Amino acid sequence: MKFLCDEMLKGLARWLRAAGYDTEMAKDGETDRELIRQARASRRLLITRDNKLMEFRNAADTVRLLHCTDTDNCAKILKQKTSVNWLHQPFSRCLLCNTPLIGLENTAEVSVPDDVRNTPLFQCPDCKRIYWSGGHVQRMREKLEGWAKV
Ligand SMILES: [Zn+2]
Repeated sequence: MKFLCDEMLKGLARWLRAAGYDTEMAKDGETDRELIRQARASRRLLITRDNKLMEFRNAADTVRLLHCTDTDNCAKILKQKTSVNWLHQPFSRCLLCNTPLIGLENTAEVSVPDDVRNTPLFQCPDCKRIYWSGGHVQRMREKLEGWAKV
């Protein structure tokens, strides 16, 4: 399962990446028609809060309409509308650019806090951002676990 989130659901898109799903975000100013075309071409589910997208022919094949408020609420409703597993492959993708992360072998040269230098580090091969399992990741994981249980 792969996703494309519309502009209003960028927060949810980052969480889908955190859960390990290949998730694109709509580009600024992309039209509804372009969004549908992009989703179909890349076999993604288009996640939106915009009723208008349901008016396209065969929209139900591609579009999942969420009537949701904040990210927490959207995450729970998405689970009702799709078979999303919030513990799919947590923290295996870059939250910023969606690229799968790779383990970092040589950690001597990288700029990270000293107390995490000897813990497993992961890097995005595209934007070069480095990830590790710190308190922030722990808190995110707890949220994912909460959504997975609902
Ligand atoms: Zn990246």
